[in-house]
Amino acid sequence: MQPKPNIVHLPVYQPGKPVEDVKRELGLSEVIKLASNENPYGASPKAKEAIVREAENVSIYPDGAAVELTAAVARHYGVQPDQIIFGAGSDEIILMIARAFIVPGDETIMAESTFPQYKHNTQIENAVIIEVPLKDGTHDLPAMLDKVTGKTKVIWVCNPNNPTGTIVSAEELESFLDNVPSSVLVVLDEAYCEYIEDPAFPDGIRMVDKYPNVITLRTFSKIYGLASLRIGYGIGRSGVIRSINQVREPFNTSRYAQAAALAAIQDQTFIEECRRANLEGLRTLRAAFERLGLQAFPAYGNFIMVDVQRPATEVFDALLRKGIIVRAGHRGYPNHIRITVGTPEQNAKAISALEAVLKEAKV
Ligand SMILES: *Cc1c(COP(=O)(O)O)cnc(C)c1O
Repeated sequence: MQPKPNIVHLPVYQPGKPVEDVKRELGLSEVIKLASNENPYGASPKAKEAIVREAENVSIYPDGAAVELTAAVARHYGVQPDQIIFGAGSDEIILMIARAFIVPGDETIMAESTFPQYKHNTQIENAVIIEVPLKDGTHDLPAMLDKVTGKTKVIWVCNPNNPTGTIVSAEELESFLDNVPSSVLVVLDEAYCEYIEDPAFPDGIRMVDKYPNVITLRTFSKIYGLASLRIGYGIGRSGVIRSINQVREPFNTSRYAQAAALAAIQDQTFIEECRRANLEGLRTLRAAFERLGLQAFPAYGNFIMVDVQRPATEVFDALLRKGIIVRAGHRGYPNHIRITVGTPEQNAKAISALEAVLKEAKV
């Protein structure tokens, strides 16, 4: 048996260590995971009730087209239902975009470093991957535009960028989109947009109104706190959405995910509270880094990337021994760790653990 030659070198995804494993291995009573940008406040209680109610229908296939949820999301954003597609997380929308649009030899442009799934899924389709270095941790849109050729099929813009947390402004994005040929699909991945209050941040849905070749990706995994249920969506022009629907598996999202997402989007009070708590948490973390003399990138999502001025993997291990799980090992950032914003209590514990680790490492 021979797998496709272009997949034999692909790594198998390595998730962050589960909290229970770390507790057991290190004999710790408390472990705080600030590694996967999950919502520390969980999900809306209304979403949890909807999941329990849905258990009644466990033996029945879900609605593949997610009609009720589609209508609710369309109302929420003021778009037409045929402009929306749901996936098993926005991860699956990325997969379906690659599957629907890329033939071997097509060129695809993305930042380095950014969310790994763009490269992973386009490699599987045998695309030519063009990676454009970040500039000060931010997408370098003019340099990305310079890489566009007649073979370019898809450009990926992660806004805010994971792992750095930076954004491109509406002004920067529009002057980029004004110059991208309309035959090139531009994917705006806005997994963290609900956390942002800065008026400079572009609303991807308004970009879809203006540019027919834009699709924006959003998710219920981050601020909505439904990561385990795997549900995300894309909003674009109906023609683009139709092409993606043609490669979609018939029952790609579950009843539980659809029911929970429907309840969650109707509880915006919960979302507002999470947004406010996250902004407060970012201020706390940023102030602590300043006090410790550490430089961090501007942060817009629910995570912040900071330069710990020594090998990040060592700081990662030392924090892990103190029961704090973060992320390290980002390509091009050997001295940076990425920390998810937790509750005030979790943030305080993470800060004092980091302070202790940095002191130990000094001697
Ligand atoms: C978390 C994340 C996603 C994927 O989330 P799903 O759980 O698959 O919806 C997509 N893009 C970025 C940038 C992310 O950080």
